[in-house]
Amino acid sequence: MINNKSTYNFLTFDIEEWFHANFLGVNLEDYSELSTDLEKNVDRLIAVCAEINVYSTCFILGSVAENKPQIVKKLYMAGHEIASHGYNHKLVYTMTGDEFRKDLQKSCTIIENITGEKVLGYRAPSWSVKKENLPWFYTILEEAGLKYSSSVYPAHTFLYGIPCFTRKVHYPVINGKKINVLEMPVPVVSLLGKYLGFSGGFYLRFLPVWFINRTIRNFNYKSEPVFIYLHPREIDVKQPKLKLPVFEDFIHYWGINSCEKKLRKILISLSGKIVRIRDSLNKTL
Ligand SMILES: [Zn+2]
Repeated sequence: MINNKSTYNFLTFDIEEWFHANFLGVNLEDYSELSTDLEKNVDRLIAVCAEINVYSTCFILGSVAENKPQIVKKLYMAGHEIASHGYNHKLVYTMTGDEFRKDLQKSCTIIENITGEKVLGYRAPSWSVKKENLPWFYTILEEAGLKYSSSVYPAHTFLYGIPCFTRKVHYPVINGKKINVLEMPVPVVSLLGKYLGFSGGFYLRFLPVWFINRTIRNFNYKSEPVFIYLHPREIDVKQPKLKLPVFEDFIHYWGINSCEKKLRKILISLSGKIVRIRDSLNKTL
């Protein structure tokens, strides 16, 4: 049973290929014909979750669901929630509202045709919602019948972020109107005067487990949930490598060797405190 005092958390995976990265100079078209180990990596994630008895929320790319529907079926049959990560990892701030609406609808239709269940959540590729997108972004999610979003990094980084954004889970108010789409911004912690992530991606691979666990406990102590976020490629030591500049290469590949081990430790320490996002809706946050 979910505790009303929000001491629960979420495990989220962005289900995409190893080359779905939005770095300058990376053209996704150059890689889209290559074979990949995505299914094998997803199988490993499903096995880890089964072993620890946790259920995740998976934000799946529409293009992945279209080309490899068996991945969606496996995750769904194993009890994981299926949500949308857009169609082909196109950054939200590169689209107009109309283009975003079409991209969202396309991805949701593909997923819903596989699972037979309404998609409730959306995560923007690379947290790519900028301040200027806010007037239309949540309205379009609401029109599409979505109930939650996990799309904003509420601090500044070299790639993304809205520094002035509310850092807590909340219903956005746009033009004075409350939108019925719950936003779950990336959990951030104040370190050396800057707000930084700690619960996923590079931060999870870089930071020690004790620090991540302690920070999650601090959030939960204040009745604030945390979501963990990873990509299947982050547990794959044999993945092909993108040609990236030194700094981007460091961010993208640091700690891959120990990532699965760290994930297991964190999940074990959160045993019984992880739910699918759809199961937490309508509970007190
Ligand atoms: Zn992504």
